[in-house]
Amino acid sequence: MLSFDTDQIDSLKRRIHEIQERINRAAEKAERDPSSVRLVTVSKTISVERIRMAIEAGAEIFGENYVQEAQNKFSALSALSATWHFIGHLQRNKARYVVRIFDLIHSVDSTRLADELNRQASKINKIQSILIQVNLAGEKTKSGISPEDTEMLVRHVSTLPYLSLQGLMTMPPYFNAPEKVRPYFRQLRMLRDRIMDMSIENIGMSELSMGMTGDFETAVAEGATLVRVGTAIFGARA
Ligand SMILES: *Cc1c(COP(=O)(O)O)cnc(C)c1O
Repeated sequence: MLSFDTDQIDSLKRRIHEIQERINRAAEKAERDPSSVRLVTVSKTISVERIRMAIEAGAEIFGENYVQEAQNKFSALSALSATWHFIGHLQRNKARYVVRIFDLIHSVDSTRLADELNRQASKINKIQSILIQVNLAGEKTKSGISPEDTEMLVRHVSTLPYLSLQGLMTMPPYFNAPEKVRPYFRQLRMLRDRIMDMSIENIGMSELSMGMTGDFETAVAEGATLVRVGTAIFGARA
């Protein structure tokens, strides 16, 4: 291997290790088991070569936003042991592709999308794990179902045999101060707890996907089980 590659892998290793350490410290501070938080390395716009290096550097789960881009990466890297999560906005006409690639879809936000994913998963006889994306602040530019309608969607998904609900995801409004985001993380956790208390059959509610480069430690303090970090690992995107 070229020494240039080795240098890049080493630097990815250092960054991933540092993020993992910060996750562990945030979890311990919150009296949580650090192994209850998983790092999703967000690789949208990042090349196959750099993802390959990130896998060598120890990254295990990759988050992708665009279906076609993810398909290319998935087939180029299928020999390696990586797990793929879909974290972007999902259109129904892409459902048949995503069920073939992704272990977890973070962004289900309507009954129609859930129905189509269920239909496509049934065709390949797969139980597709999903999260419901909640738009807590009602931002028009963002996907996600309203907190008020979340219970309805949970109940709907609980009737779909080829979907396995695991929890909730959110993309809160952007602030450059993590403390300003904390109320949204807390709100998602409370919504999750409320739904958990309803003991709805055939669903799980253990996962909370929240927190990115600027605020993942705060998210961990508020209960995140999946943090989605791109920039802090790969640097700023083009
Ligand atoms: C891009 C993206 C991220 C990662 O954001 P960074 O600030 O680069 O860590 C996380 N979640 C979603 C849904 C994204 O689209």
